[in-house]
Amino acid sequence: MDKLKFLINQVDQRKDEMIELVKTLISYQTPAPPARNTAEAQAFIASFLKRHGFEIDMWDVYPGDPNVVGTLKGSQSTEYKSLILNGHIDVAEVNPEEKWEGNPFTPIVRDDCIIGRGAADMKGGLAGALFAIKLLHEANIELPGDLFFQSVIGEEVGEAGTLQCCNRGYKADFAVVVDTSDLHIQGQGGVITGWITLKSDQTYHDATRRSMIHAGGKLVAASAIEKMMKIIDGLQELERHWAITKSYPGIPAGANTINPAVIEGGRHAAFVADECRLWITVHFYPDETHEQVAKEVEEHIKNVAQGDIWLRDHPPIFTWGGSSMIEERGEIFPSLEVDPFNPAVTLLAAAHKQVSGKEVVQDVSPTVTDGGWFGDAGVPAVIYGPGNLMNAHSVNEQVSIEQLVEFTKVLVSFIYQWSHQEK
Ligand SMILES: [Zn+2]
Repeated sequence: MDKLKFLINQVDQRKDEMIELVKTLISYQTPAPPARNTAEAQAFIASFLKRHGFEIDMWDVYPGDPNVVGTLKGSQSTEYKSLILNGHIDVAEVNPEEKWEGNPFTPIVRDDCIIGRGAADMKGGLAGALFAIKLLHEANIELPGDLFFQSVIGEEVGEAGTLQCCNRGYKADFAVVVDTSDLHIQGQGGVITGWITLKSDQTYHDATRRSMIHAGGKLVAASAIEKMMKIIDGLQELERHWAITKSYPGIPAGANTINPAVIEGGRHAAFVADECRLWITVHFYPDETHEQVAKEVEEHIKNVAQGDIWLRDHPPIFTWGGSSMIEERGEIFPSLEVDPFNPAVTLLAAAHKQVSGKEVVQDVSPTVTDGGWFGDAGVPAVIYGPGNLMNAHSVNEQVSIEQLVEFTKVLVSFIYQWSHQEK
């Protein structure tokens, strides 16, 4: 325990070093979109981890966007608990018309704040976690359990950085996603996007419209755009039904929305629209899966189509998810349920209380993070990181230094203690 006290003290004493680390990470310009710009930042993280005893696995998820996974093998790794720390290196985009105090990638430190793109979401969290690792290493502490550090790409645009880590076989007894949570311990609902396409088997000139909509016209055909109105009506019915029948503690009722986000259709004003595509965003609760909600949407919309003479013969086509909003115009964020009785969760909560003197708030994130991929892969996980969502993606994005210090203390204490727990 003396070691732990020493480590926690170090965070206070070497606060300026940590602030410098946050500033360095912010200064790498990694907005997504446009993405494909994280190679330098990831090389910096890889060499940082290497310096502190980690073995590096680095691979391109996309050209110019590599994932980094550092492994610090435990001294008794078969007997002691393993841990994954996960964060994303990409940040929200910056629009030229945004009125920032200075350059968003030249961080400003003022009073208790670090201001810059990614300060809250989530280079603050990444820097805190890296700094915790550095302190452990410099204090010559050998952890008995395995420790993995994952710096992933593409989170802001729904890319499969964390999914690839899971598919590559990285597993542990617990994972902490150090994304923006205002130091709450959080699970999350999920999101899946999908396209619903209506397609006519023939293309008609605008002049045939009279024959397809008036008495005696004898042309059984339809505008795909007009038929899409029925689909949108059907989605609203289902959305309302879900709002009434489903709920999850800690999430406002009706948060399980179906948003008709984008519509595309028709080819030219001289034609009747022969195709229409609707891009929807479906939010679901932590105890649901994306497969299950996609199936519910499909079943309901297929029933709607059965009640329409034209749609019955031209059934809607569904395309769900995708691994990138940029490449495939589609994404999935699985949900994450947190078991408050999981020993790692109780240990993290105790570490938080010990450092801050306050009970940790355990609730559900109103947004989505990569945490869901761990849930999906069967790795118990939580979201726990500095910064709040008011600041994430905002102009003059900032993180409180006091909170960052608190986070780093909690994390160093948690890593140390969890790694000393027997499997
Ligand atoms: Zn984030």
